[in-house]
Amino acid sequence: MQIAHFGQNPPARPSLVWFREDLRLDDHPALIAASQSGPICAIYILEEGTDLGRPLGGALKWWLHHSLTSLKANLAQLGIELILKRGDPRHLIPDLANKLNAGSVHWNRRYYAWSRPVDAAIKAELTGRGVQVGTYKASVLTEPWEIKTGSGGNFKVFTPFFRAAQPHCDTWAEQVAPAPPLTGLSNPEIVSESLQSWNLLPKAPDWSGGLDQTWQPGEAGAQRRLNAFIETSLHNYGEGRNIPSKPATSFLSPHLHFGEISIRRVWNAARAAMRANPALQTDGQVFLSELGWREFSTQLIFHYEDFPEESWKEAFRAFPWKNDSSTLRAWQRGQTGYPIVDAGMRQLWRTGWMHNRVRMIVASFLVKHLLQDWRAGEAWFWDTLVDADVANNAAGWQWVAGCGADAAPYFRIFNPMSQGEKFDPDGHYVRTWVPELAQLPNKYLHRPFEAPTEILRGSGVHLGRTYPLPIVNHEKARKQALDALASLKQNVTGDLV
Ligand SMILES: Cc1cc2nc3c(=O)[nH]c(=O)nc-3n(C[C@H](O)[C@H](O)[C@H](O)COP(=O)(O)OP(=O)(O)OC[C@H]3O[C@@H](n4cnc5c(N)ncnc54)[C@H](O)[C@@H]3O)c2cc1C
Repeated sequence: MQIAHFGQNPPARPSLVWFREDLRLDDHPALIAASQSGPICAIYILEEGTDLGRPLGGALKWWLHHSLTSLKANLAQLGIELILKRGDPRHLIPDLANKLNAGSVHWNRRYYAWSRPVDAAIKAELTGRGVQVGTYKASVLTEPWEIKTGSGGNFKVFTPFFRAAQPHCDTWAEQVAPAPPLTGLSNPEIVSESLQSWNLLPKAPDWSGGLDQTWQPGEAGAQRRLNAFIETSLHNYGEGRNIPSKPATSFLSPHLHFGEISIRRVWNAARAAMRANPALQTDGQVFLSELGWREFSTQLIFHYEDFPEESWKEAFRAFPWKNDSSTLRAWQRGQTGYPIVDAGMRQLWRTGWMHNRVRMIVASFLVKHLLQDWRAGEAWFWDTLVDADVANNAAGWQWVAGCGADAAPYFRIFNPMSQGEKFDPDGHYVRTWVPELAQLPNKYLHRPFEAPTEILRGSGVHLGRTYPLPIVNHEKARKQALDALASLKQNVTGDLV
């Protein structure tokens, strides 16, 4: 690795690479492009400002700290310092480019409503000063404007979207590229802030013990997860992905969110495994289609800018939500008296992640049984998920709440007892996360309030004391939810299903 000293006859004007949600060296189009024109300087900005997106939730901050530590170390091994700055990139990037006398600035594209004008302003400022700007597709396989319906519109339904998108995904994923050879540069005028000074890790209280035990943020951890998934779980993904007690999914979501692994690598790894072993076709295709949902969600927030904050179906904007803080708190804490719901909420709190099936169950319970606004649930997920993602989170919540594009109809209300019995029949998941119910026989594990007194006593369960009584009665709650929908139907025009 060479180090160029800027100011001592550099071979070429340096390039600046702005790392954002792409905290990796492998298959990084901006890095590849920058490396072709000379020495590089790498920067990450903790973007702060009222028009600079939603402040990071607690779990995202924890992840970001460790992910930046990892990226910093990987770059340092190549002789490149990752410069950390906090503030507004509209000032910081042009300022840094100026100090470096950079010939070009490169970044991978993001698709948020707030980030697009910011990027455009920076690009205009730089090009106005004669600095070249390169922006690249990296976090998705299909950019939101690439996949169109036959009449040139945007897809609002997943299946036809994915049918049209999949060939593009295949072609684009073929172009995966390893990390390029890099030359760093040092410039005493440019001083990095310290990661510690950003205070991203929780203190007083430090709730991150479970996250530490569960995750290895960074490129190596991401690659390890991908390899393990392809080797051990892909062959049974179609069925296994519905069983929350099984580690049958990839656990790649936070790695993908932070771009520690490229979506092309993930897609290609699945494709290669499917080619090598035709018996993986069906399961592999289910996995690819889940990656497709990620593409679909990104194009939703791109085309409908208020999608993260507003019900996509306008008729739902008048929904009579209850907005009751003590009810919301019981749900957040995993104290609803419905074991599968409480197990999910506790898994989330402890590990920063929740199984997809259980995400659907707890979300349905919040918006239908408890009639709380989906945005309250989305906000809690935003704060507690290590994979909290503006597009996937809003899309997931709106899908469950019935108000999103291609959503589950609102009148389809999950029964938390039968969902538990179907997807956690042996109770392994509930027993792990709700240990106070561990001694209950399977027959009552998902409905402890129906257990005879002697069974409860024999299992050490005292409802209302060691474990809550149900916060609502399932049948009554179901009826209330349907009544709320019926009242909405009378008062608004527009699509409700
Ligand atoms: C209410 C709700 C909220 C959600 N919030 C988020 C979120 O904030 N961030 C997030 O990444 N996912 C979210 N999801 C989608 C999904 O639950 C997670 O992506 C998945 O559980 C992550 O685990 P995994 O990586 O093992 O997934 P796998 O099953 O291994 O899937 C592989 C990858 O595909 C993508 N993916 C899978 N399912 C979906 C989906 N339904 N929508 C979009 N992308 C998907 C993810 O990037 C995931 O890592 C949410 C789902 C619901 C129902």
